[in-house]
Amino acid sequence: MRLQDTLSSSLVELPPPPEPIGIYVCGPTVYQRAHIGNARPFVVFMWLARWLRARGHEVRLVHNITDVNDRIYEAAPGRSAERALEATRWYLEDTADFGLGMPDAQPLATETMPEIIALIEELIASGHAYTADGDVYFRVARFESYGALSGQRPDQVEEQEPNPAKEDPRDFALWKATKEDEDTSWDSRWGLGRPGWHIECSAMAAKELGPEFWIHGGGLDLVFPHHENERAQSLSVGHPFARIWMHNGMLRFTGEKMSKSLGNVETIREVLDTWGRETALVFFLTAHWRKPIDFSEESMAAARAQAETLRNALRGEASAEGDWGAFVDALEDDFNTPAALAIMHDWARAGALAELRRGLDLFGLGSLGERRDAPPEVRALADARSAARAARDFAEADRLRAEIAALGWDVRDADDGYELVPRA
Ligand SMILES: [Zn+2]
Repeated sequence: MRLQDTLSSSLVELPPPPEPIGIYVCGPTVYQRAHIGNARPFVVFMWLARWLRARGHEVRLVHNITDVNDRIYEAAPGRSAERALEATRWYLEDTADFGLGMPDAQPLATETMPEIIALIEELIASGHAYTADGDVYFRVARFESYGALSGQRPDQVEEQEPNPAKEDPRDFALWKATKEDEDTSWDSRWGLGRPGWHIECSAMAAKELGPEFWIHGGGLDLVFPHHENERAQSLSVGHPFARIWMHNGMLRFTGEKMSKSLGNVETIREVLDTWGRETALVFFLTAHWRKPIDFSEESMAAARAQAETLRNALRGEASAEGDWGAFVDALEDDFNTPAALAIMHDWARAGALAELRRGLDLFGLGSLGERRDAPPEVRALADARSAARAARDFAEADRLRAEIAALGWDVRDADDGYELVPRA
């Protein structure tokens, strides 16, 4: 299996199973309902972990939650702790609703404070960091390959976190002294304060996976400064750190406009409520993880239609055998989910239902093959619609069809009456 690595700009071969594969993925900063863009790394790395397990690897997927960060203090001055707790709960509920299970560990910065503080002490002791007015900064000049991950020459790296007390404009904060409006702080030998975002991830990765692990993931927007800084910190204390850096492409809003009835659907919660988990998962399958993915009403409607096609195929009779090897090849080649999806559509057309079910199961879409019985109120509406059609009252029949759709079902005319099919 090969995966594209940002640091070497090349495909890196994974070892054969059962070699344990540790994966660390940067999760969201929790201060509001998570944006649908935050769902992409969650879904991609849950799928990758499932696939690596299916190959026979022992996998440990760690997806952190950043519950101490500037953005939380800004979003909820004076009550950041409460807000972070609430938004963490939202995030866990929303991601659970994809039906993919959960990562093996979801560490919080607030639960990793002793390890974070110990790591900063180690960096100061080795001369890689220094204190300045209650803050602690990483000394970028002491780390030779700074800029390697983001493809910058060390002498051309832009200024981060301006502060005249720093030795070098490139230096970044490991610890920030408590400011007046901040409601949380932790004690350290440099005084009351709280950690910077980057050191939190270096400490959580080491705590959960040890000093060296296979894959570090996150969105493309995290390459600089976040991952560049994580790498500098961890390598400076002698951790070999990640062997492969995987950066997922960004989710872009590209539709002309969302319809009035749907409003601006932007959070994971809104997308799941509006389109359902199956459509959302098919949507994420349609783009290669490294490429941008376009979110619009059109692209979601197209994903819904694809889910529907697959669901319909599973209602038929198996009539062919599919080439499972081709599906494996697509995923082993840099986890190419659009190619795997195309193969599943081939299977759907050909009636290779055993392979189709197996493939869909891997992506949490086995539910497309489950028959569900409509609840009594939906059946009553469908009966009323049949009666309206028999009386040639087509306006009423259309109204009832819309009412049934709003409850999550499609009504289809069949030889012996009607059929109720759950909407994707
Ligand atoms: Zn991180």
